Amino acid sequence: MTSATGNSGVPRLADLIVKAARVYSMNAGRDVYAALAIRDGWIVAVSDDRDGLDALASEGTQVLDDPGLTLLPAFFDIHEHLLDSARNLARVRLEDAHSIEELIALVRARAEQTPAGEWIQTSNGWNESNLAEGRLPTAAELDRASTEHPILAPRGGHVSVTNTRGLELMGVTGATPDPPGGTIGHLPDGTPSGVLEGGAAQTVKALVPPPPLSESVDNLADACAIYAASGVGSVREALILLEGWEVYQSAWEQGRLSIRCLPLLLVDPFRPQADRLAFVEGLGARSGFGDDWLRLWGLKFVLDGGVAGAAMEQPFANNPTYTGHLNWDPDEMTEIVSHALARNWKVATHAVGDRTVRTVLDVYERALEQNPGTPAGTLVVEHAFLADQSQRARAIALGVSITVQHPLLYVNGKEILESWGPQRAAAVMPVRSWLDEGATVAAGTDTVRPFDPMLNIWGMVTRGTKDIGVQGPEQAIDQYTAIELYTTAGTRLTGEAERRGTLEPRRLADFVAYRADPVTVPVDDLPSLVPAITCVGGRGVHDPDKLLEPPPGV
Ligand SMILES: [Zn+2]
Repeated sequence: MTSATGNSGVPRLADLIVKAARVYSMNAGRDVYAALAIRDGWIVAVSDDRDGLDALASEGTQVLDDPGLTLLPAFFDIHEHLLDSARNLARVRLEDAHSIEELIALVRARAEQTPAGEWIQTSNGWNESNLAEGRLPTAAELDRASTEHPILAPRGGHVSVTNTRGLELMGVTGATPDPPGGTIGHLPDGTPSGVLEGGAAQTVKALVPPPPLSESVDNLADACAIYAASGVGSVREALILLEGWEVYQSAWEQGRLSIRCLPLLLVDPFRPQADRLAFVEGLGARSGFGDDWLRLWGLKFVLDGGVAGAAMEQPFANNPTYTGHLNWDPDEMTEIVSHALARNWKVATHAVGDRTVRTVLDVYERALEQNPGTPAGTLVVEHAFLADQSQRARAIALGVSITVQHPLLYVNGKEILESWGPQRAAAVMPVRSWLDEGATVAAGTDTVRPFDPMLNIWGMVTRGTKDIGVQGPEQAIDQYTAIELYTTAGTRLTGEAERRGTLEPRRLADFVAYRADPVTVPVDDLPSLVPAITCVGGRGVHDPDKLLEPPPGV
């Protein structure tokens, strides 16, 4: 924003003053104000009197006086795959399919416009629970869309389906053994089903070339706008490759990031140890590099799979011989994590199953022993779906932060219940216990598609899900706490709480405004609320009614 001076040359004290019904600061004192002043992208003053900041208005100050508005800090999604979600915009949208027949038709329509031999990739924010058949398609079914193109249909981050052409390019036959940290699905007759999990899904993904840089940058800019429209002002981008950093940096230098992004760089679990060490050695940059729009958060480890590949202490409910898989040898992971800490990297690890949570805490404990003085919050466990009291106590004692994503339970509940049984389904993400016991926790989505923040809050408050009702109601939290976890708490986890995350002076002006009070509306009304404005850095990045634009002629 340009220097705040009016035509008279007198310095402007505020670019924007908002007078609202309520401004929830979400600070430690839970202060609620009625007016807020912004200058150069920062909050410079607040008042609990709606007219209390009038003296800051001068020539050129925009005043938004709207007693119907309630302001919250803009949402900070602590774990979402924004770039993947952006690229989904250009892929075949399987979220629109309601049956395997419709899914095949959508892929076929794309194949008809694509030169033979080129990969066809679908979005990955869909879920088989939305298909009438309630299951993933098979290679043979995808063959009905095309046998001329290899097809990659990833579902979430850990499972992919490919067709026969794709299996051929992978070199997978009925005799191929499972790769490390992954499984190749088979039909009853022993032929590959086309369903690939963990390391097997990574193998097929690696065959698909990334889209051109300019296309990715365009998609990322569009995705920022879509997330902003739902009230999100920041995303901790949960996993990128180096190629993804190039996309982020390009979008940043073109001024096209309208929300704040903090990427995590993947340390590939499926490479030899020497390559992984060399990767961390060779990066040069480290955690914290960047500015308030794009900042490198740290390194990402993926220690187990999703629901189907979670490493468990006890066998799966639907497969008594299976306990999931770990993607890393714990000694090798300890070596790399320790190495990363010594180079001032922050480290986050995807851990879903209870065996994984125990293992990552073992790894973290040893790495911290080798790096005394590491500040609390340097290490994070992502998801920690199954963490009992003893593991929670260990994490808290080690200063390990936790990220939770109710939308994963909301969307994947049926798969969780079938795979793990009712007791473990109810225990997924013990948010209330984490908070009561003193953990640093922040909330996100991880759905690889825009997930309505208000539905996320509803879920944390009710423990409700899409298909399997309420799970573990004792882990429910109140509305204020849920909003806090999804706004302010994120900046505490990333160490930015002194710059943003609350609505008070000396914080960046990132807020979302509603025409109802999300703290006090009946919980079941939450999912119907839509933002009137999302403002990031004092700029309306979502402002459909042009409330933040000066009236014509000014
Ligand atoms: Zn994720």
